[in-house]
Amino acid sequence: MIAQFFGCCRFVYNLFLAYHKDVYASEKRNVSQYECMRMITQLRRDKDCLWLSTCDSMALQESVKDLDRAYRSFFDGRGGYPRFHKRHASSQSYRTRNQKGCIRIDGSHIVLPKLGPVKARISRLPEGRILNATVSRTASGKYFVSLCCEEELVPKPNGGGSVGIDLGIKDLCVLSNGDVIPNPKHLSKYEKKLRREQRSLSRMIEANISHRDSLGRPVWKKPLSECSNIQKQRIQIARIHEKICNCRTDALHKLSAKLVNENQVIALESLNVKGMVKNHHLAKAIADASWSRFVTMLEYKGFEHGCDILKVSTFFPSSQICSSCGYQNPKVKDLAVRRWVCPQCGEVHDRDINAAVNVLSKALAMQQP
Ligand SMILES: [Zn+2]
Repeated sequence: MIAQFFGCCRFVYNLFLAYHKDVYASEKRNVSQYECMRMITQLRRDKDCLWLSTCDSMALQESVKDLDRAYRSFFDGRGGYPRFHKRHASSQSYRTRNQKGCIRIDGSHIVLPKLGPVKARISRLPEGRILNATVSRTASGKYFVSLCCEEELVPKPNGGGSVGIDLGIKDLCVLSNGDVIPNPKHLSKYEKKLRREQRSLSRMIEANISHRDSLGRPVWKKPLSECSNIQKQRIQIARIHEKICNCRTDALHKLSAKLVNENQVIALESLNVKGMVKNHHLAKAIADASWSRFVTMLEYKGFEHGCDILKVSTFFPSSQICSSCGYQNPKVKDLAVRRWVCPQCGEVHDRDINAAVNVLSKALAMQQP
């Protein structure tokens, strides 16, 4: 049933996206989400769309809201034009609202609209009022429900310190006080395993090609969806990806919690999104992706602790400047230079710690009126 609901929500999203496009092309006007919501009610009564009536109606309304949000962020210039959702996307989800307690925890079950009690492993009991639930399926086929709850914000204290952070590739990050936070244990083991399994997958796919057509496209011996070994291998790879992601997320949660607990001021470099997209190197791409997650964590946890999260422009040459005298040494541009001596004051610098110190002092200088 959950898989059906994913399908229904995607259908509604895609249907109204197409409707938006049509109406705009013919009448040059935008469709409001209320118009779409009224149409859903009609659709659910339509004989051709009876399967929609078995779906959770609030979930359908939420996908209309998602589309509306996608359009608004497009008009505000925050996002691209909304796209159709793919049927075979690796991860799927739908969201539904809590109305009159239709979403609740009942012992070892979670009660969801239209689904009733679903057996679940409850990781943590919700606090406050449940607003909505997002049901999702990961690429490896695991199902999750996350609850969004509302509760009174109780300000938490912090240690009043200040710290600068430099993102690393080899290490997770380096702090201005000289602390080096290493990558979580076993991470490189999983990355090695991932590469191996990916090679194995591409061999399997290669073996399934009977020949190539005139345009060089592969013609399969057997459709890929029917190759059970290839599908199994895909799930195996998805599991390793999830494992790596979970290891990192765990480490980032621990680190961000520690930082907001100890510091009033947290300075970091803003994320270079364009560079991120261009980068295809595995380790770097993963590090970049976790950086944006880390910033999000710092921001919401910092908000609870009343911290100042300061961002320094990516164009600020944090690693080239001597943190003692301010001399700019262009030779340090080369990433291979790990340690350098300042030609002006003779101070010996560790590349990353020096960068973290510079990020902090730059942020503090920006904070002064
Ligand atoms: Zn110097």
